[in-house]
Amino acid sequence: MSRSLNVAVIGAGVAGLCAARELKTQGHRVTIFEKANQIGGTWAYDTRVESDPLSLDPTREIVHGSLYRSLRTNLPRHLMGFLDYPFEKRPNGDSRTFPAHREVLCFLTKFANEFGLVELVRFNSEIVRVERVGERNDEWLVESITRGCDSVSGEVFEAVVVCSGNFVEPQIPVLVGIEKWRRYQIHSHNYRVPEQFRGQIVVLIGFGASAFDISRDIATEAKQVHIATRSPDVKLGKLENHNNIWHHMMIDHVCEDGRVVFQDGSSVCADTIFYCTGFKYRYPFLETNGVVTVDENRVGPLYSHVFPPSLAPGLSFIGIPVKGPIFNTIELQSKWVAHVLSGKVMLPKEEEMMASTNEFYKKMQELGLPKRSTHFLTPYQVGYQNWLCAQIGLPPLEKWRYQMYEESVKNIIEMRDGYKDRWDDAYWDGIINL
Ligand code: FAD
Repeated sequence: MSRSLNVAVIGAGVAGLCAARELKTQGHRVTIFEKANQIGGTWAYDTRVESDPLSLDPTREIVHGSLYRSLRTNLPRHLMGFLDYPFEKRPNGDSRTFPAHREVLCFLTKFANEFGLVELVRFNSEIVRVERVGERNDEWLVESITRGCDSVSGEVFEAVVVCSGNFVEPQIPVLVGIEKWRRYQIHSHNYRVPEQFRGQIVVLIGFGASAFDISRDIATEAKQVHIATRSPDVKLGKLENHNNIWHHMMIDHVCEDGRVVFQDGSSVCADTIFYCTGFKYRYPFLETNGVVTVDENRVGPLYSHVFPPSLAPGLSFIGIPVKGPIFNTIELQSKWVAHVLSGKVMLPKEEEMMASTNEFYKKMQELGLPKRSTHFLTPYQVGYQNWLCAQIGLPPLEKWRYQMYEESVKNIIEMRDGYKDRWDDAYWDGIINL
């Protein structure tokens, strides 16, 4: 027999909306708490930035969004829909395969409206505390503050699904000599438009999708853009198809006079150091007496990136993995959580989940992988997603999804300019319809 629980979902981004739909489908009663005044999370473009461009000041007001004005998706729209609800072209929308960010928000809004999710959302409601309570330790106290009123209100739920997003707290590497470097520094989290870099020499650290896009965006205004990377496969020097972008080795140190010195001894005198260096997980509202921690960016212990063994199934996390087709991962995780909470799918015993989680961490250590890469799905996203499918009785996902993901990533890693507009739709339509 199926159980119907009273479930709190934290966040109304892709993960929260998707989780809510699956929970609702399984007959659970769902309340989504969203601190913003709209749905969409990351995809709700916010022109505001934080007062500290590095987001280090603990007293700053936190801005959730990290999108910049020119952002287009870095994956084809085929990988940014749900299995039974594809990201289709709209009659008067942005019909490109890699559309601008507004189109993703339109898609999510349509999804939320069609599945009756908007009415489940409590807008302007920030969760400030989540703690396990109850005589049998099977309930969760969820405390929230509604914007405009100072008081905290608490409610008890039978389960909490954390969908609060991972791209809010910047990760800033410490450069040798940075304490004496007096010029401007910014993390991509606080970047919106390139005009502020007009005429400048910018050194940008990073080699992911954001570094690729932002370097090109800034180069439309800056005098020079120098990309510093650890990646061993990069051809160093000036880029052939740009007259003001260079690739360099990683930064060795920075100097008081403004110079940034790269590992091969070459240097530039920079106006700005721009960090495209990723984000840290953070759950300031979670009170688990040390059961769930964030250690060197590993959220753990989590069984299959979702359930903390000793708090399962009442507490779960959706959307933690990165570097894979995120929308599909979120959807499959959501289905798994909803099925487990309804009692249709059983989790292994706590000790078994713990043993499996520890085994995964041990394997990572043996392979020399740092803790901070715990939630990187590449290169095992196929195995992970198909494992999730198996938990809920779904067949493995179609192969084209992985082929398309790999092709997109290849374009990003090789920094192929213009790949979004040269995508061969006819070729991919053929593969999808095989
Ligand atoms: P979010 O979208 O961050 O949503 C979390 C929600 O939780 C927010 O609405 C927030 O307000 C709310 N919240 C947080 N804390 C609380 C609280 N305490 N109380 C109440 N509400 C709270 N993915 C792709 O697939 N393709 C792309 O092209 C792509 N490009 C990206 C570009 C950038 C610059 C970034 C930062 C990410 C990109 N991503 C991309 C990844 C993107 O994060 C995911 O697509 C997706 O948005 C993650 O959804 P989420 O629901 O997990 O988190």
